[in-house]
Amino acid sequence: MTKLLEGKKGLILGVANKRSIAWGIAQSAAAHGAQLAFSYQGDRLKEGVEELANTLSGSLIFPCDVTNEDQVDALFAGIDKAWGGLDFVAHCIAYAKAEDIDGRYVNTKLEGFNTALDVSAFSFTLVARKAEPLFEKRGGGSILTLTYLGSQRVLPNYNVMGVAKAALEAGVRYLANDLGPKNIRVNAISAGPVQTLAARGIAGFVDMYKAAKEKSPLRRNTVPEEVGDAATFLFSPLSRGVTGQILYVDSGCNIIGY
Ligand code: NAP
Repeated sequence: MTKLLEGKKGLILGVANKRSIAWGIAQSAAAHGAQLAFSYQGDRLKEGVEELANTLSGSLIFPCDVTNEDQVDALFAGIDKAWGGLDFVAHCIAYAKAEDIDGRYVNTKLEGFNTALDVSAFSFTLVARKAEPLFEKRGGGSILTLTYLGSQRVLPNYNVMGVAKAALEAGVRYLANDLGPKNIRVNAISAGPVQTLAARGIAGFVDMYKAAKEKSPLRRNTVPEEVGDAATFLFSPLSRGVTGQILYVDSGCNIIGY
């Protein structure tokens, strides 16, 4: 197999467990020769993330709650110290309060709105800003985030997360324009429904998951490995002309209008 990321160093934010889409991305990138750094939010996840990260040789592991700028600074300082630069970043983080991803969007309160937008959209801008100097040291870079069709269309109970993903996708375009002159590419993968910890928090997720399989052209659900391989493409020189894009990895589900 041709290794697309040999000699490259990347940061993966958002591994919660082996079902995380972030872990699918990590496995593909590592199989393509990349060395990886991981971050986890809080001690609850520390042991599990360490266990997974340590299955890949040379991994770095840092704590980082993306709503805390000091922790984000410490993360990038740690990576800079260890590696002296960075080639790619996968931002695989989202959060909304349970009450805001159930029922009517119209009932969303300001606090819940701000929380969802802060963690799920603003954090990508913050991470891109902090990664910029490390990418520059390597002559450029590639950063991606994960989004979902609920940014474009109304899907049951996705609610404030759909609004956050719409902001996230607009952010991808503005960041791509800002960072492009430095040879830093910014993209998103819009994944089909995947059974993960975060997804299980969405009321009615199982119905959404079943519908995606029945309606998608490929008649199957998306798996993290497929998202991982698409991410490897976006990190690699094969995608050197691609920036500011939302790449659908969803068995084609987004083209269906019924
Ligand atoms: P996941 O395994 O539960 O991952 C979500 C991650 O976000 C967890 O590691 C979580 O940590 C982290 N996170 C939440 N708040 C954070 C914070 N303040 N600071 C740092 N990390 C924080 O679920 P996933 O489905 O793979 O989600 C990854 C991304 O894919 C999300 O952006 C999600 O919207 C997107 N996506 C998912 C699907 C799907 O169907 N699963 C489809 C399309 C897009 P904690 O567990 O500690 O909160």
